[in-house]
Amino acid sequence: MRHFLMVLLALAGNMQALAAGPQNQLAPPAYAGVHDQNTPLLLSATVRPTPFRGADGRVHIDYELLVINARATPAKLVSLEVLDAASGQVLGTVSGSELARNFSLMGGAASDALDGAQAGYFWIDVVLEPGQALPKALSHRVVSATAEMRLTPAVKATSEGTVQITQTGGTVALNQQPALVLGPPLEGTGWIAFNGCCKEAPHRRAGIPVNGILYVSQRFAIDWVKMDANAQQSYGDSSKNENWPTYGQNAIAVADATVVSVLDDLPERVANALPDDTNVQNASGNHVILDLGRGHYGFYAHLQPGSIKVRVGDRVKRGHVLARVGNSGNTTAPHLHFHVSDGVGPLSSQGLPYVIDAFSVQGIGVDVTEQGKVTVKPLPQQGPQRAALPMDAYVVDFPSATKKK
Ligand SMILES: [Zn+2]
Repeated sequence: MRHFLMVLLALAGNMQALAAGPQNQLAPPAYAGVHDQNTPLLLSATVRPTPFRGADGRVHIDYELLVINARATPAKLVSLEVLDAASGQVLGTVSGSELARNFSLMGGAASDALDGAQAGYFWIDVVLEPGQALPKALSHRVVSATAEMRLTPAVKATSEGTVQITQTGGTVALNQQPALVLGPPLEGTGWIAFNGCCKEAPHRRAGIPVNGILYVSQRFAIDWVKMDANAQQSYGDSSKNENWPTYGQNAIAVADATVVSVLDDLPERVANALPDDTNVQNASGNHVILDLGRGHYGFYAHLQPGSIKVRVGDRVKRGHVLARVGNSGNTTAPHLHFHVSDGVGPLSSQGLPYVIDAFSVQGIGVDVTEQGKVTVKPLPQQGPQRAALPMDAYVVDFPSATKKK
């Protein structure tokens, strides 16, 4: 009771303080040039993006724009423009039928509209042509169609007409540090960059809520599959891991690094079938994680059980053989899943772009399924490449640079 009284007294004190405040507190603000705008959507970028050079010869800037409908009334997306925040120059536009291909609601459903209080993501891939100036920061102009907004919340929005609201926001500065330059995670010829950037699925859009945060750790992941000299990824009974040229290839260190995590005892899977017992702990299968420095971690997944040649704490040199490529974890065929992210957690970290210092492009795999013969189509960017990230379905050759321990 005594405590309650003290609270009341404290409140009374506050009331007196308010009453004694400056008289102009209730007067309308008189700031010249301030034009506040009601905006139905809250916009924010998920990460500070790092531009990188793709093996398509273009610079890519990949991140997500979180969009929250802050009202109880629906908002239909009309367009998104990504702007150079300084000049206002439009660097990319999404509208019409492209919206649902580049926007999804929380949980992953493609959409071009948000219900009241719903949220979702624009999956952004800004592409700059050679010679185009790199912006320092990006902003976003979003047009949405929604019920007219009034300052007074009591006004019933449903009785009003639909209006288009143009709002700009979600400004994000680009990371000024260039993408990390690494060696290849594999050696030899005929490696296909499956599920690489900036294809819609499955890596680029693998937004997974972990530890209370929505992470996209696989934003720039590649599932590397090797084809043989006859462009075959598998032969004979392809349910046998041994019938894949990928199986048993060396996974090698992409840089001088420290081993920070190893898992080596999960069983091999049968090829051509997705396992039904996948969980957060076993999805990556047997894996090695390297601390590459500068807050970057290299993640090698689906390795052969019992094949890992390094232990936690080991210092490895670039090219050092870490393990053999296998088919463990959540996988349908032997492949090396490799990505770089900003933390040790395979899922609880944000995917970072990187570039491979030297490799050669054979072409792009077309009509590629995860087995059988690959048709490789020529590309304008054929031949040797320096400091670039192989793009989705590119077929590349890596130098043989293995240094055995
Ligand atoms: Zn993968």
